[in-house]
Amino acid sequence: MSSVLDQLYRLQDRIQFVRDRVRERDTVPADLVEVDREFREKVEAVEKLQARLSEAEKEQRKSETEFADLREKQKKYQTQLRSVQSSREYSAVLNEIDGVDRQIRTTEERLLALEEEIESARSELATREQNLPAETAQHEERLKDWRMAQRVINDELAAAEAEIQRLESEIPPRDRSEFHRLLDKKRGLAVSRVIQIASSYSCSACHVKIRPAALQVLKAGREIVYCDSCKRILYYNAHA
Ligand SMILES: [Zn+2]
Repeated sequence: MSSVLDQLYRLQDRIQFVRDRVRERDTVPADLVEVDREFREKVEAVEKLQARLSEAEKEQRKSETEFADLREKQKKYQTQLRSVQSSREYSAVLNEIDGVDRQIRTTEERLLALEEEIESARSELATREQNLPAETAQHEERLKDWRMAQRVINDELAAAEAEIQRLESEIPPRDRSEFHRLLDKKRGLAVSRVIQIASSYSCSACHVKIRPAALQVLKAGREIVYCDSCKRILYYNAHA
């Protein structure tokens, strides 16, 4: 049966283990960074093209509606032109028609440009999408060893996380919450080992000597003792 202190020390160790392993798992190995970057760029290029295409298509629908509205306006003014009574009215309507004609030309130019953009985006996208499965397969092949290492790490993580859960459920709630409070405050090191050099004992985190009275309590191993200096929980292991 291990003491609460043993459990806390082990819990801290497992938490550190998980943190380090997750970092290791999620860090692309140096020799694969370039390969991975190139592949990511290919995937991102497809995503960007898809976004550009859908944006251009949206813009196209909007411009088409505008164009139809302008043609309606143009027709309306042309009808009006036939029924004007005065030359002043005539030139006013003519002015309106001029304005609409200009807008129609602008919209036509925009539609033309959009059509070109959509066409080129579609063709580039088609090529890229066609190549992507083979590129993905090639990429996975290059990353095979790393993927294997990641799977091993995931298994280790599952085991460590199960142990963390078990320890958390066994440690009394008050000690557990105190431990987590310290863990946050002390950047991942809540429990500090006691180290012995000759006949002097000190805290391994801050290297401050431990008072003899505190050492007695520590050696009994039944109570939580804090370091006078860094306020971490001290852990004394006689067998270490
Ligand atoms: Zn200390």
